[in-house]
Amino acid sequence: MKKTLNRKLTRCWMAFMAGSLFFLLFLFVSGGGAVVFSVLSIACLVIGVILLLIANRCPHCGNGFRGGSWSKPHAGYCNKCGKLMEYDDTVAERERRRTLRKD
Ligand SMILES: [Zn+2]
Repeated sequence: MKKTLNRKLTRCWMAFMAGSLFFLLFLFVSGGGAVVFSVLSIACLVIGVILLLIANRCPHCGNGFRGGSWSKPHAGYCNKCGKLMEYDDTVAERERRRTLRKD
């Protein structure tokens, strides 16, 4: 079992956060009267934060961190244990290349 960060989950919380801002924008455009947009905005924000808290944990020691990346190979080094926090797709891609080289 490899210790990696979940890229899909990271992209998920980013998408929900963006969605929250998107609905907030709609709310302002509509003059603040549309309750449905404020509800959707808050719902997206809550889901986004929950997913962020699940996704942004050091895979080595479980320490929470800020940031995360849509496409970078890793999320930097852990503040607590100092290990590199790589994403699952980065590691999978490296494994794939290694297998290709062997052939
Ligand atoms: Zn750590």
